[in-house]
Amino acid sequence: QARASLQKVGVFDPAAYGDPARNLSLMGEMRRALEDGDIHLVHQPKYNYRTGRIDSAESLVRWRHPSRGMIPPDLFVPMAEETGHVRALTDWVLQRAVEDQQRLSAAGFKLTLAINISARLLSDTDFAQSAIQRVRQAPHTICFEITETAVIDNPKVALENIELFAANGIRVAIDDYGSGLSSLAYLKQLPAHELKIDKMFVQNITTSQRDALLVRSTIDLAHGLGMDVTAEGVETPAAFALLATMRCNLAQGYLVSRPAPLDELMTLLADEKRL
Ligand code: C2E
Ligand code: CA
Ligand code: CA
Ligand code: CA
Repeated sequence: QARASLQKVGVFDPAAYGDPARNLSLMGEMRRALEDGDIHLVHQPKYNYRTGRIDSAESLVRWRHPSRGMIPPDLFVPMAEETGHVRALTDWVLQRAVEDQQRLSAAGFKLTLAINISARLLSDTDFAQSAIQRVRQAPHTICFEITETAVIDNPKVALENIELFAANGIRVAIDDYGSGLSSLAYLKQLPAHELKIDKMFVQNITTSQRDALLVRSTIDLAHGLGMDVTAEGVETPAAFALLATMRCNLAQGYLVSRPAPLDELMTLLADEKRL
């Protein structure tokens, strides 16, 4: 818990990741892994309560290492952030998401794909400009998920870049809402279209009245600010149903689908179409 909050405020704790020298060599392998296809994307659908359909998905990165097996993103993304590799990783993820979005579109599925933007990159103006270029053909089909802490770390530049994304038609989502140092002031300033409530609150809504109250009021607050709300970590039919009564807009979690490769996502969407 303490370690998690340290990471949140951006203090690197090498002990948390085992041998630093090994980690550095792992990062040295990242570029090749991106080229060789050891790193790939999976997509996790978001169910839209209003339309009753899946109309967006979050693209998440996976690294299948030839000798070390699956390396979880919670491990290598923070490493990439610390070693200056996160720009290359995110450029690759964005490029791939744009391509997958085009493949979906060509197959007749109109979906918005969301990618995660590291806190650090948000205050990088060069990244912001190049990201806008990369999505210029259909910016409204791409969403950037950003965490609140990103804005708290370097408010001025981060806010300018987020405004730039929104002004250029990119959808902006605030990720993991409630898990960090939430600030109403920044929430008010951010030109975000979507608020994602962290799974840590969603997972207990059917057993904890307190969590249910927090989620309900967050949904009302977000709606008051003109944002859609996504609940993360929806794992049970009971939670899914309760969220509907709370007027939640989107549900994401293992109940709807685990993150899946593009071809599996297309199969899921095709089955849904037939319903
Ligand atoms: P996140 O953005 O909060 O992503 C959601 C995580 O929750 C994913 O884990 C997803 O697999 C997991 N999840 C989804 N539904 C459920 C559920 O119903 N129950 C439970 N228990 N978990 C669920 P994943 O893919 O391991 O990603 C972990 C984190 O790694 C992400 O958290 C995100 O912060 C980071 N990450 C992943 N891909 C990227 C990327 O391309 N770029 C950056 N910057 N970060 C990434
Ligand atoms: Ca996310
Ligand atoms: Ca999240
Ligand atoms: Ca998370």
